[in-house]
Amino acid sequence: MNRRYRKLRLEKRNRLLELAYIDPITGLGNYNAYLERTKEKLEINSKKTIIILDIDKFKTFNKKYGHMKGNALLKRVGEEIKHVIRKTDIVCRLANDVFGIFLVGEVDVENVTERLNSKISRINIGDIWYNLRISMGVYICDKNEKDVQSIIDKAIMAHDSVKGKYHVSYGVFTEEFEQKMIRESEIENMMEEAIKNKEFEVYYQPQISTKTEKMEGAEALVRWKKDENRISPSEFIPIFEKNYFIKKLDEYVYERVCENIQELKKEFKEIPKISVNISKESLIDSKFLEKYEKIMKKYDIMPEEIELEITERTTVNNDIDIQKILNEVKQKGFSIAIDDFGTGYSSLNMLEIMPIDTLKIDKSFIDRIDISEEKTNFIEIIMFITKKLNLKTVAEGVETIEQVKYLKRWNCDLVQGYVYQKPLKFEELKKYIKGDKM
Ligand code: C2E
Ligand code: CA
Ligand code: CA
Repeated sequence: MNRRYRKLRLEKRNRLLELAYIDPITGLGNYNAYLERTKEKLEINSKKTIIILDIDKFKTFNKKYGHMKGNALLKRVGEEIKHVIRKTDIVCRLANDVFGIFLVGEVDVENVTERLNSKISRINIGDIWYNLRISMGVYICDKNEKDVQSIIDKAIMAHDSVKGKYHVSYGVFTEEFEQKMIRESEIENMMEEAIKNKEFEVYYQPQISTKTEKMEGAEALVRWKKDENRISPSEFIPIFEKNYFIKKLDEYVYERVCENIQELKKEFKEIPKISVNISKESLIDSKFLEKYEKIMKKYDIMPEEIELEITERTTVNNDIDIQKILNEVKQKGFSIAIDDFGTGYSSLNMLEIMPIDTLKIDKSFIDRIDISEEKTNFIEIIMFITKKLNLKTVAEGVETIEQVKYLKRWNCDLVQGYVYQKPLKFEELKKYIKGDKM
């Protein structure tokens, strides 16, 4: 009797422990289990690596195939991870579709991530096969690190850095990475104040016609001056795109541009067409057109006087109907330019179906122009297509006269780059227009 009672109590205790530590869906350990087991392993005196892995668009999978299939998938992913790691390593399901892996001993990160990727990116449930994408964040632990939460955080940061990026499935947390994160949070702490303090200023880079050699357009480019330091747009724009502050900044720049155009119109008979950069986050906001039209009207500007630059990357989006948004923008009368063309993996089909007016050929293609040799440059092919589709072309980042000559020969319409002018302050732009006798 007594023995039976003890056995029952033991079973009950085990079941409770199971509830506290086992994930019922995959049979793997859960978050609590991961924390405890990892903590133990951190005491071992050898190399240790942590990987945080998740499935891209798992929610969509769940919606499409239902929760039962979703759960079955998680179980299969757990199994495949187990096939890749050693018996002494750990894998647990930390939350939804997030798995925590902990490897003890020497690890070839490239090899392990590659094997995980190939096992999971094509996976079967029964005899049906699915294609998935996964993202992984890797952190190689420091010898003396004992704080489990902090190593998980580092792996998560590395994971966040690759989330949503095509062609990279894993990121490794490094010292440099840490510096970058610190800098990122510095910038995030300064951004709201920066708008209030008018630290952002709009510069204009002239675009010169290859036919008339006059300025026909100008691109608005934002500059950030904090005290006496300049922070480069290439540094802060990607951060603002991630935290959505770009919506505020784009709108701010756009308003300054409208204000400046109004002033130019009072002073000059003919003015260049101003183009403004619009990030994807701004464009897909449901209030985008409403807000931008309102600002335009405030300064008495017609949409025909403005060109909106959308990067080629923005047009590649499976979740949102960019074509529909651009059609609406176009209907209002704005012209649309595709920025950084040649870098964004869009299909040529895009050029035909999107309502675009202008193509901006990315600097990397200009840099690669090979004038000396008798071979076909990629630009010649772009020029052939754009002429067929009746698009205006702008070459970006043109630095030499030879490049200008080449672009003129191939009938590229406008040239923008240091060969003519760096981006100018608004007051300098006005002087430039005067000198140009426009
Ligand atoms: P982008 O739109 O491709 O702008 C062209 C960049 O090339 C600018 O850098 C410009 O200063 C630089 N550039 C122009 N000519 C030359 C040249 O001959 N040689 C070289 N090496 N560079 C040249 P910037 O101003 O640093 O801007 C970087 C990026 O930041 C821009 O690339 C654009 O994507 C983004 N950006 C700038 N202002 C805004 C804005 O108001 N809103 C949004 N969403 N993005 C902006
Ligand atoms: Ca641009
Ligand atoms: Ca560009």
